Amino acid sequence: MIPVKGHEGQKIAVLGLGRSGLATALALTAGGAEPLCWDDSPEARAKAEGLGLSLTDLTRAGVFDGVSALVVSPGIPHLYPAPNKVIARAMEAGVPVDNDIGLFFRSFATEEFDDFDMAPRVVCVTGSNGKSTTTALIHHILTHAQRPTQMAGNIGRGVLDLDPAIDGEVIVLELSSYQTDLARALTPDIAVFTNLSPDHLDRHGGMGGYFAAKRRLFAEGGPDRAVIGVDEVEGRYLANQLAQGPQDDRVIRISSGQKLESFGWSVFARKGFLAEWRRGKQVASVDLRGMGGLPGAHNHQNACAAYAACRSLGLAPKVIETALHSFAGLPHRSQTVGERGGVRFVNDSKATNVDSAAKALQAFPRIRWIAGGMGKDGGIAALAPHLGSVVKAYLIGHSARDFALQLGDTPHEICETMSRAVTRAAAEAGPGEVVLLAPAAASFDQYANFEKRGEDFTEQVRIVLAG
Ligand code: ADP
Repeated sequence: MIPVKGHEGQKIAVLGLGRSGLATALALTAGGAEPLCWDDSPEARAKAEGLGLSLTDLTRAGVFDGVSALVVSPGIPHLYPAPNKVIARAMEAGVPVDNDIGLFFRSFATEEFDDFDMAPRVVCVTGSNGKSTTTALIHHILTHAQRPTQMAGNIGRGVLDLDPAIDGEVIVLELSSYQTDLARALTPDIAVFTNLSPDHLDRHGGMGGYFAAKRRLFAEGGPDRAVIGVDEVEGRYLANQLAQGPQDDRVIRISSGQKLESFGWSVFARKGFLAEWRRGKQVASVDLRGMGGLPGAHNHQNACAAYAACRSLGLAPKVIETALHSFAGLPHRSQTVGERGGVRFVNDSKATNVDSAAKALQAFPRIRWIAGGMGKDGGIAALAPHLGSVVKAYLIGHSARDFALQLGDTPHEICETMSRAVTRAAAEAGPGEVVLLAPAAASFDQYANFEKRGEDFTEQVRIVLAG
């Protein structure tokens, strides 16, 4: 745990008692503050009480008298579509609103750091897609290189649940737009921006607000090195804003598909090869083909981002290359869960939006596509250019009929359930084809979360392969 500094003897309200909220309350206590904890859910409150935390109903009038700050969980809206009523009250009372990320950055460095040979560093990863994969990949490469490292944020542990950093350690944090939007301190040493596509727009009041939330990591944080995906206009704009000029190597531009040869520092992947260029010269290349944990151009982008971050940390290209080979991939992201008679079964349940589903559809040549669930605005209309690889779609969940209407000439069948979709797709698939779950929709109509949906897919595949 990282005890929170700077709030000794103060009352700090904590709203939201999930994974990060509980870690925050305990870290505040360890730092000598008095957390006033609240969550709308009675189960969450009971869990907090079980950990010895005391509850205060933060929805009561006047509750912010004498309170120094409010710390909120990422799932709770602070601005759009409308602020949560507790947050609204804190703002009316002039009480600063922060989150665990802000507390982390103000509490991370300790006096012990003065005696270290190498100061601990923090790498933060943000972007619309690929954050978890890139974060886990950086952590994997550092582990492989025997560098002390811990991973947290939107993946795994809450940031205040980390162990205090040791000599030379690298902390790798995945940060969502909700987290970067609110943090009152954001000072990574290296910051990574993978890509940008529309998502969570209701929470950010549109695309501009969404981009601005992510941009804070760079604009407020002033990292020593910025690794930026330049395959969208927003990434190009950000890189341009941060660099003095094209030769400024504090910015490493990355791309999947573009040749970036004229910059101070760049890493890009084309046709399965990653290339690193510095000041007009290629300095390294890595063959990404056949790396089982990183299929598809989108994962090659993640490989470029992780490679660039690790190069900034001083790792050699060969060390990174070996580690890329042994990366198994994360569950529910382009994860192969079975194989039979030349047919591969791939679980990409995390493809909850159209952009990530589009990337999955481009990763394989012949696809039996399982899609559907709780569709997002616009359904799958934007996927029309990527349907060439789809042999047939098997549609499930709430949006199955809407998706069917948008599929046009692409063969499809309404299956309703995962079990039927897997059975039908497996029965019809031939050698060389991939049965792919890439729903392009949220899971909440049929499952508690995308992980449960991916687990159901995996289980249905197991049943089909056993039968
Ligand atoms: P995040 O944490 O940003 O949601 P993940 O690594 O969990 O990112 O991947 C989310 C979804 O996006 C998965 O379906 C995955 O296959 C897909 N994906 C992964 N990397 C990228 C990328 N660089 N560009 C687009 N889609 C990606």
